[in-house]
Amino acid sequence: MRFARFFQLLLLLTVSLVVVPAQALQVTVTIPPLAGMIAPLLDEDDKIEVLLKPGVSPHGFQLKPSHLRILSQSDLLITVGSPVDAWVNKYAQRVEANKIRLADLAAIEKLPVRKGGLWERKPGKAVMDDDHDDHDDHDPHEHHGHDELSYDGHIWMSMNNARLSVRAVSDWLQKQQPQKAAVYRQREADWLAKLDQQDRINRQRLQTVQNNAFFVLHDAFQYFENHYQLKGVGSVRLNPEIPPSLKRLSELREKIQKNQVKCVFQEPQFPSKQMQRLTEGTDTKIGSLDPMGTSYLLAEKGSQKNYLLYDRFSAYLTDSFMQCLAD
Ligand SMILES: [Zn+2]
Repeated sequence: MRFARFFQLLLLLTVSLVVVPAQALQVTVTIPPLAGMIAPLLDEDDKIEVLLKPGVSPHGFQLKPSHLRILSQSDLLITVGSPVDAWVNKYAQRVEANKIRLADLAAIEKLPVRKGGLWERKPGKAVMDDDHDDHDDHDPHEHHGHDELSYDGHIWMSMNNARLSVRAVSDWLQKQQPQKAAVYRQREADWLAKLDQQDRINRQRLQTVQNNAFFVLHDAFQYFENHYQLKGVGSVRLNPEIPPSLKRLSELREKIQKNQVKCVFQEPQFPSKQMQRLTEGTDTKIGSLDPMGTSYLLAEKGSQKNYLLYDRFSAYLTDSFMQCLAD
């Protein structure tokens, strides 16, 4: 009798072990910073796939059919939802994964595309660079889309938007696995507290350089600048994929000399010699900013990941600004 009960129990236990364990999730994101926002919410067995590999710019990127397999295996697909990752749209429609688009979240912060001064594109041009008049009829860069939007599509650069995406993904996880809701809520609270702490550290550091003017290579950092009240005064490239014309370079040189521009920031995804030409014979320094964060991975010893956690990402961006802008 006792043995019978024992075996009954054992059977129950075995069955429950086979049936109950929550299945590992696969979450796919388009660009690395999206992975860095939500990774701390997931279990160790869960898998994060990042479609854009380290060192690659999302601008002008094209998905291959092989990515369709990754997408079709996903439980959740997280995208920016702006033209920056519009390359995923036609594939995303075909797969069953649940989808979270940052751009669609309630209360998401959206800033207008910057115009005026050196942010401006030439009026009446279909393409954003003055070198490419001949493309007016057929725009090879339309997938980029910086100029088709009413808002700046680099919304992942905002710490506030990162928080919103943490909450949205946590809500989704709680609905998927209600039996673990309390675990997810705790992870969400812990991660948000960590982001808040990093945010305060960044703000404190960047306060000291708020009055130092700088150029960026392309206007990808507006949300970061706005959040920490930094003094970006223009971008070197109007279209991130197209080098600036000589005319624009000379306008920029003039502005550097007039405005005491302390620093110009290049980006690892767009190697460029124009920065040296811009700053030659001036006191302006050349720094580097990475809107994907993956170039900073080299400094993360022992990391096997292909993305940076968002608190580290924001800390490295802060470092980059400080290195170039601080006296
Ligand atoms: Zn961009």
